[in-house]
Amino acid sequence: MNVTGCCARCKEIIDWKIKYKKYKPLGQPRKCVRCLQKTVTKAYYVVCESCAKKERICAKCTEKKDIVQEPELTPTEQAARQSQVQQELRFMSERQRRTFHRDVESGQRTDEGEQAEGGSDSEREEEEDEDKEETEGDDSHET
Ligand SMILES: [Zn+2]
Ligand SMILES: [Zn+2]
Repeated sequence: MNVTGCCARCKEIIDWKIKYKKYKPLGQPRKCVRCLQKTVTKAYYVVCESCAKKERICAKCTEKKDIVQEPELTPTEQAARQSQVQQELRFMSERQRRTFHRDVESGQRTDEGEQAEGGSDSEREEEEDEDKEETEGDDSHET
């Protein structure tokens, strides 16, 4: 693993722990001493990534030093991160699309936008179907 977001000295300490198998990963997020949210995900760090970046401080000793930056991601890591982002995006766009469809169905919109999106939404989340209110067999046209 890569130790980043902290100063060279802290990186050395953590690297050492990793090397000698003394590194204990964090079981659950701990409180960031800056934003006080449980956003610290790395063991031995006391400041969360975003606070450390924002203030340009070491996430471990909180001193303003030269911070070891994240190195270039390997293609595998990049792909993993990409697919994660894409999943989130797909989930979000799915919701937006549904809202759009609902508008179309209720007659507020008549222009079709769904074709243009190249919709490959065959593997969408099925449970989301429930919030689509289908009123089939609506008998509003009776006597
Ligand atoms: Zn924070
Ligand atoms: Zn440090």
